[in-house]
Amino acid sequence: MLVRPKGTKDMLPEEAYKWQYIERVAKETAAAYAFKEIRTPVFEYTELFSRGVGDTSDIVNKEMYTFLDKGNRSITLRPEGTAGVARAFLENGLAGGAMPFKAYYLISAFRYERPQAGRLREFHQFGAELYGAEGAYADAEVISLADAFLKNLGLKKVALKINSIGCKTCRAKYHEALKNYFAPHLNVMCADCKVRFEKNPMRILDCKEEGCKRFTSNAPKMLDYLCDDCKDHFETVKSLLTASKVEYEIDPAIVRGLDYYSRTVFEFVTSAAGAQGTVLGGGRYDTLLSDIGGKDVPAVGFAAGMERLLMVMEAENAPFENEKTADCYLLGMDEGSREKAFALAGELRKAGVSAETDLMTRSVKAQFKYADKAGARFVAVLGEAELNEGAAEVKDMKNSSSEKVKFEELAQYLLSRR
Ligand code: ATP
Ligand code: MG
Repeated sequence: MLVRPKGTKDMLPEEAYKWQYIERVAKETAAAYAFKEIRTPVFEYTELFSRGVGDTSDIVNKEMYTFLDKGNRSITLRPEGTAGVARAFLENGLAGGAMPFKAYYLISAFRYERPQAGRLREFHQFGAELYGAEGAYADAEVISLADAFLKNLGLKKVALKINSIGCKTCRAKYHEALKNYFAPHLNVMCADCKVRFEKNPMRILDCKEEGCKRFTSNAPKMLDYLCDDCKDHFETVKSLLTASKVEYEIDPAIVRGLDYYSRTVFEFVTSAAGAQGTVLGGGRYDTLLSDIGGKDVPAVGFAAGMERLLMVMEAENAPFENEKTADCYLLGMDEGSREKAFALAGELRKAGVSAETDLMTRSVKAQFKYADKAGARFVAVLGEAELNEGAAEVKDMKNSSSEKVKFEELAQYLLSRR
């Protein structure tokens, strides 16, 4: 038997409503903040990610799905959403439009990682991007959108952790301090951290190896090295969050795994059992657009992992709302009424009722059994008598009561009872 590739998942019809619910809440929350959807290609030229995400990041070093296409071009399945949006923004000349640019995306992303709970090779993200605004209001807007999204999902056990990793100027001093601190421990740290030490010592703080993590709590903190501008920026972000009742903790260990960040970085972390820690991460990346060859456009955004959100929602017993439909199974007792049932189903669907009818020439008993299994709320029974009367016998499957309803009033009847 053929099986799915390692690290991928099937989303089956039975659980699709959970995904649809999370996506619906994402779209509604984004709309409330006036973010519009953007869709970009699943694959891009590899260079976009090596330049955009950065070649000291785990993603670019170890996790990318890269291949040569038939034209010998190096192609990569997107490992994240931000670089593609930035490319599309520049390529389509959107920098000349109204600022700030505000967009959200719902995408699949691909990373060659060791599969485990909440860590897949194909996974899904909801993300948002805000370009063109360099002030702290933009950071606070994006964090507030992320916070509203998680609250709208009904999540209670997620905490917002924020930090500032400064700008290119003040981080240079910090890198020196980190190197001085880690140098004596380097010989017992992992191979990756030895490379990080040379290329980007701050990334050591994001290492997931226990042997390295034990050194990070006493490491120098970026917050002590911020220049005055970065300090002001961070103070304003904090006071805007407080003013808009977004609770946060300051966590100097949050540095994010991607190279493009500067100043504000944040993560929403769950304390619910059985779920992977970080469900949503983001920050400011003022150099990304110039790194990929565009002009200097300040940017801030986040991405949330859908699979992890799903796990957290299940762990917290948060409700997944089904869309409100009035489900009706139309049951034809004989050949003539089967045809009427088929036609009537079409009428109901046009009116916004979810309707089903027999497609397998089943007996009356077998049709009832199917309607019950399918979870239909109502069954409208049609036989010779009903056709003559122009009315169906509508059975409410919840309480077994039934009522005669005229064909032309059936849609209204069902809609008023959903
Ligand atoms: P981690 O530190 O857990 O590897 P990350 O820093 O690599 O996460 P980001 O690049 O910030 O993650 O991606 C944003 C979100 O996407 C994460 O917070 C997480 O919820 C989700 N995510 C990242 N990688 C995976 C994956 N392999 N499988 C499922 N979800 C993922
Ligand atoms: Mg990762």
